[in-house]
Amino acid sequence: MMDLAERTALVTGSTQGVGLGIAQALAGAGARFAVHGLSEPAGLCADLVRLGAPEVVFLSGDLSRPEGAMDLMRAMFGWADIDILVNNAGINHIRVLADIPLAEWSNVLQINLTASFQTMQAALPGMAVRGYGRVINISSIHGLVGNPGKAAYAAAKAGMIGLSRVAAAEYAEAGTARSGGVTVNCICPGWVDTPAVAHMIAERQADLGTDREAAIADLLGEKQPTRRAIEPAEIGAMALWLCSPLAHNVTGTAMPLDGGWTAR
Ligand code: NAD
Repeated sequence: MMDLAERTALVTGSTQGVGLGIAQALAGAGARFAVHGLSEPAGLCADLVRLGAPEVVFLSGDLSRPEGAMDLMRAMFGWADIDILVNNAGINHIRVLADIPLAEWSNVLQINLTASFQTMQAALPGMAVRGYGRVINISSIHGLVGNPGKAAYAAAKAGMIGLSRVAAAEYAEAGTARSGGVTVNCICPGWVDTPAVAHMIAERQADLGTDREAAIADLLGEKQPTRRAIEPAEIGAMALWLCSPLAHNVTGTAMPLDGGWTAR
């Protein structure tokens, strides 16, 4: 069992979906942390405390504006230093490249990529001083492969991988094996069952007249060979492993969690 009792974390976009799965994993390991989103779901912090977190606060902040990311970090540092930073908040629009309005491109890049740059710039120096730090960036399979309709999203997620590699190299010598060092990694999930994709499942289920699992298997079709959706808890488990001091030499990676998508 991972013990994060001495660690403080910030998980962006953790009110639902992947971010909530990571927050639940951190809570189970005894970390104190800030959940973040646009608005606070009733009872969320209390639920996470029940799972084992000693203290949970909610911080709001609209990451579609650079000032929103800076306000979030100011609020975070007003509460605590950050040992574990998970950049998870993200949005996606499906539209072919020729039709993407510049404002939509900029918004996707700001929320998915630039806000991560801002939070990392604020958090990494303190991690280096303390000798332990984990930055876990939730990229995507679309940062690794090209799919039609995802130009802005793919650019942001591939950008996140490049950003993480550079940060990993710049902070590689911080800390020691004993302190745990400072690492920066990306997790690249395939298709995760979250509220963001609920409408796709419902539509496919209605089209096929099947049950939910069969609709998911059909949706994943040629892409995700297991044809099973990834649960947010699976990403939480991978994030938790990266937090271990034992993972101090795992840095600058882009780890697929994709049901074999990139194996083909
Ligand atoms: P989701 O829509 O269920 O949750 C997104 C979270 O981001 C929410 O907590 C929301 O409040 C927050 N958020 C959105 N816009 C924001 C803004 N402007 N400012 C602040 N917070 C904002 O999405 P999800 O499916 O859980 O995805 C989470 C992350 O995982 C994203 O980065 C996404 O790209 C990535 N991802 C998801 C999948 C998938 O299949 N669902 C696959 C690969 C990667």
